[in-house]
Amino acid sequence: METPIQRLDFPNHRNVRLYCKREDLLPFSLGGNKVRIGQAFYADMLAKGKDCMMVYGNSRSNLCRVLANLCRAHQIPCYMICSREEGEESGIETNNSRLMKWLGAEVIPCEKTNIAQTVEDTVNRLTAEGKHPYYIFGDKYGTGNEGTPVQAYVDGYREIQQWEKQEGVLFSHIFFASGTGSTQCGLVSGKILEQGSEKIVGISISSREYERAMKVMQTGIQDYFAENHLELPVDFAKELHLEMGYRQEGYGKYDDRIMKVIREEFCRNGLPLDPTYTGKAFWGMKEYIEEHQLEDCNVLFLHTGGTPLFYDCLPGGTL
Ligand SMILES: *Cc1c(COP(=O)(O)O)cnc(C)c1O
Repeated sequence: METPIQRLDFPNHRNVRLYCKREDLLPFSLGGNKVRIGQAFYADMLAKGKDCMMVYGNSRSNLCRVLANLCRAHQIPCYMICSREEGEESGIETNNSRLMKWLGAEVIPCEKTNIAQTVEDTVNRLTAEGKHPYYIFGDKYGTGNEGTPVQAYVDGYREIQQWEKQEGVLFSHIFFASGTGSTQCGLVSGKILEQGSEKIVGISISSREYERAMKVMQTGIQDYFAENHLELPVDFAKELHLEMGYRQEGYGKYDDRIMKVIREEFCRNGLPLDPTYTGKAFWGMKEYIEEHQLEDCNVLFLHTGGTPLFYDCLPGGTL
């Protein structure tokens, strides 16, 4: 499953040439990085002999939509523990949450402070019903399965490097929206394994604090290398660059600067972005390019998908 890399029109005064890898065009369930990542979890569920899927996310989650779709296609029951962000009075609806319901996933609402308990209760209920639930994030605290999704973007990194060699274009930087860190773990692991030279820069779009995000990514990379009997350089953590300055008020929060970039990119390049993930990351990347005065280089934006949320942010939509 190889996705195209295209040159974008990107007016600037320092000869920065911008390219975009269109992971949003992956051919399943409206695309996005969660197609690759979801398939890795789904395969792990089967490998572990489980017979139903438990996911955690919120109403904007692309991972929950893709997993609900994969499960439905294979007639596997799918349970989605759905939290809302602090300050959201009631759970908001998005195209993703509508699609999850439409796909027949059972949505289990939950407070953000009560996730572990809800995971445990759900595991117990399903077990009592004779099922063997697979929780994608490991134990009830969401740890223990960090290595599983990493392969997805080791493969993604290899595609990028392949393209660079074929086209004779070397990227100085790779930017993308970073949330759980799975994509970043994969790209960084791929770079280490293939001795790449690009600076891999995650633009944080999540509410996770820096220390915790870095810890989770280190664990993911360590687990992946250990599970695959690969040798990990001791100083691997120096490859993890996570920008925390473009989160605005936190996950799902955005202002007019982001909406302006979204409209601009659609008008200029026909590129759909959304305010929670790719639009925020694209805006963050543009700020970064200015702040760091990047000059005469090739930059790659990894478009991680979220197409349903693009439609949500059009005038008249729910975001
Ligand atoms: C999940 C998601 C991300 C973040 O990817 P992680 O691997 O969780 O860091 C970025 N963009 C979109 C559109 C996503 O759905």
